[in-house]
Amino acid sequence: MTKILVIGGGPAGLYFAISVKLREPQTEITVIERNKANDTFGWGVVLSDETLENLTQNDPASAADIRTHFAYWDDIALHHKGEKLVSSGHGFCGIGRKRLLSILQNRARDLGVDLQFGSDVAAASSYMTDYDVVVAADGLNSRTRTEFSESFKPDTDLRACQFVWLGTQQKFDDAFTFIFEKTDKGWIWAHAYQFDDDTATFIVECSQSTYDAFRFADLNQQQSIAICEEIFADHLDGHALMTNANHIRGSAWIQFPRVLCETWYHQNVVLLGDASATAHFSIGSGTKLALESAISLAENITQDQPLDVAFDSYQSARKLEVLRLQSAARNSVEWFEDVERYLDLDPMQLNYSLLTRSQ
Ligand SMILES: Cc1cc2nc3c(=O)[nH]c(=O)nc-3n(C[C@H](O)[C@H](O)[C@H](O)COP(=O)(O)OP(=O)(O)OC[C@H]3O[C@@H](n4cnc5c(N)ncnc54)[C@H](O)[C@@H]3O)c2cc1C
Repeated sequence: MTKILVIGGGPAGLYFAISVKLREPQTEITVIERNKANDTFGWGVVLSDETLENLTQNDPASAADIRTHFAYWDDIALHHKGEKLVSSGHGFCGIGRKRLLSILQNRARDLGVDLQFGSDVAAASSYMTDYDVVVAADGLNSRTRTEFSESFKPDTDLRACQFVWLGTQQKFDDAFTFIFEKTDKGWIWAHAYQFDDDTATFIVECSQSTYDAFRFADLNQQQSIAICEEIFADHLDGHALMTNANHIRGSAWIQFPRVLCETWYHQNVVLLGDASATAHFSIGSGTKLALESAISLAENITQDQPLDVAFDSYQSARKLEVLRLQSAARNSVEWFEDVERYLDLDPMQLNYSLLTRSQ
């Protein structure tokens, strides 16, 4: 019987465990997650209809559960200089990260996966002899990627803008909304989208110079939030902005690191999800990549083939998809990095430029 250890109970680790159990119920799988079961960062994530279709083919039960908790919307709205421009036909769906994880945790448990919460894995190497496969689904700041960095050869590109991932109970249920506000310290903008009946994601982003002018680095989260609430007051109708990154001391602002590893495996350790590669949030594909890579890894390691062949086939298939998405993401990120160049355009032109930014 194969024994697998998964480090990290995010979307990638949990969905991988589910996908292996569906193919090989006798495999023993343990997922170790350092957080508690319902203690997570982030608000809602976006998934496309295409991803949902892939999830349905892989596991109709969890896909159906995810579908019943989705918020759907079709429009994109741009708020700029007091005007609102709306375009239709975009087709997105959003789900709360907490909700998604709880669906995946329940499904994994039902299939017999051993889920262990509140335990921090210090080093993947400590598990390499006791397990046939160690899957490092330990996220953006993967400790495993650092431990074997000579094999994985990660390339990290820290992008220029600063952002903070907030939520609000103000409704943005009619459109995926972009709001650009000019302040005396520079431009600052928000990406807002509904993900359940009561809550919307509200990501605030700005250039380094605006960030420095507001001194966000020196402020704690509540002080930053108070400033953002004031800036976006016209769009919040008195609703608060909220953080659920209370475990982070000081500022929760970060610059997005674009990560891509040259090699995704080292002996019996394999990287999965954000640990192997990231896609910028402005094209909403990080969770999609994590879930679809989880299916691919499960498919490959449950076939009757040597482990290195399975890993290699997984890596080739997924790296191609990552490169395609990272290229679209790069165009989108660069658009936001250069956005101040476009903000004096006529609103129609600005909207066109925004909507076609990742092409
Ligand atoms: C602002 C923002 C907005 C986003 N919006 C979207 C979106 O709209 N759509 C989308 O698809 N994606 C979005 N993403 C990306 C998405 O959140 C990630 O791509 C996705 O969560 C990757 O899943 P993962 O399982 O690989 O990593 P994670 O979700 O980071 O999970 C990793 C898990 O491993 C655990 N862990 C780490 N180290 C250890 C350790 N040593 N021991 C035990 N456990 C450990 C962590 O606690 C965590 O639970 C967004 C990201 C950001 C930052």
